[in-house]
Amino acid sequence: MTSVGIIGSGFGALAVAIELKRAGHTDLRLWERSHDLGGVWRDNTYPGAGCDVPSPLYSFSFEPNPHWSRRYALQEEIHAYIRSVADTYGITPLVRFDREVVAARWDEESATWTVTIADASTGSGTTEETVDILISAVGQLSRPVPPRIDGLDSFEGTSFHSAQWDHSFDATGKSVAVVGAGASAVQLIPHLARDARKLVVFQRSPNYLMPKPDKPYKAFHKKLFQIAPISQRLERGGVWAVTEQFARGLDDESRVGRINKAIAMWHLRKQVADPELRAKLTPDYPIGCKRILFSNDFYPALAQDNVDVVTHAITKVTPKGVVDTEGVEHEVDAIIYATGFDTQDFLQSIDITGTRGQKLATQWADGAHAYLGMYVPHFPNMFVAYGPNTNLGGGSIIFMLEAQARHMRQTLDRLVAGDYRSVEVTEEAELAYDRELSEKLEHSPWAHCDNWYRHRSGRITSNWPGSTRPFAQATRTMDPTAFRWA
Ligand code: NAP
Repeated sequence: MTSVGIIGSGFGALAVAIELKRAGHTDLRLWERSHDLGGVWRDNTYPGAGCDVPSPLYSFSFEPNPHWSRRYALQEEIHAYIRSVADTYGITPLVRFDREVVAARWDEESATWTVTIADASTGSGTTEETVDILISAVGQLSRPVPPRIDGLDSFEGTSFHSAQWDHSFDATGKSVAVVGAGASAVQLIPHLARDARKLVVFQRSPNYLMPKPDKPYKAFHKKLFQIAPISQRLERGGVWAVTEQFARGLDDESRVGRINKAIAMWHLRKQVADPELRAKLTPDYPIGCKRILFSNDFYPALAQDNVDVVTHAITKVTPKGVVDTEGVEHEVDAIIYATGFDTQDFLQSIDITGTRGQKLATQWADGAHAYLGMYVPHFPNMFVAYGPNTNLGGGSIIFMLEAQARHMRQTLDRLVAGDYRSVEVTEEAELAYDRELSEKLEHSPWAHCDNWYRHRSGRITSNWPGSTRPFAQATRTMDPTAFRWA
């Protein structure tokens, strides 16, 4: 029986594990560095954390949930969903908790991966395990980064990253600074604005913000979803169709892009009366270049009297607060860094060695790239879920993950059926794929401003160009000629 080791236990790991298990590949183990499963939906517990993709689509196609409390579920509910899916499909018992994969080495003789695993509960000691197939499902947003600002450690108040929320912190009556105005900040700021005495938001770039058509599901909807599951499938299909259009129109030039921009500007005008604040919140780059955000309560929060939006850059953090380029020191009791994640260096926290001592970190020094985002030359029997160029500017990552899982299953099926020991994508196939992709990415909206989708080399490493249907088509049938089977 071919043994498979999966790194992670979030949506990506579950998508692959369930697909493989259902196909009869049952020698599976998942290594999870934490004590619980769920990936980003376990870690991001800041107030207001939730998903800006509607839940009927932001869920597995094979496991619709008629019990969603609202159209855009919040973190706790999504995390509970992940746990329940893992239980339903018998994945939970396969997870080895508190096991952090720190290295993996391909052994040509045995055609296996030797995986080095640290005990994350004690922080000491490593063990080794051997598997035939290594699958990374560590995600793209699992390593929070505080900003590089002088004096960060000198601050004497409370400070933490949005993805490492300190639940002992109570903002009531306090003065609080938030650094960042991205997807996480937009969700947490309305909560802080309500509780804090004073809130200072340091916004480096404004975002295009659209209204969020959120609403609680009534008892009637839930009953309908249960007795006529087709109704929820129809809603899923409708949401998918809308997000496909949205993803196609992520630029100023397209008709959908122009409509999106008009809606975002209308939303700003409607919610922010003060022209000075409105000017601060008006993006000066083409729509779609950064993630378009959705919120009904972010702008009203910023318009509150106790909230200041500072658009000057930060020069340093002092023991008392934050200093901006105007020389103003904003004294605060707490600083919250909603500054995002280390997204550029894919898989670099794991020392991965492929054929003839090839290091993945070296191969990807100028930015990660992989055939269909999943397969890397010189790294046989290694598959990557939510790998390079599989993130979306709009739409559901879960849809993408299911497509990847199906492709990986086909590859594994052929390996087993053909009695092969290893499968490795050819350099030619990967190069040809990457050339075509790079051409599309050059003309994508993400090429026109700074964003987390781009590697410092300039290469766009995170995003898939376009909507999800072409990706599903490209991955529907595994092409055996793209691989070397041995
Ligand atoms: P992010 O989108 O990377 O935003 C980071 C924010 O911090 C940006 O506003 C950035 O400004 C700012 N920043 C970074 N360094 C700074 C500095 N030195 N000084 C001032 N500002 C600084 O991170 P995020 O909000 O955590 O979201 C990351 C991703 O997670 C999202 O794009 C999305 O894919 C995912 N997410 C999804 C949801 C959802 O609803 N589905 C919710 C939260 C997060 P610049 O824009 O100028 O760089």
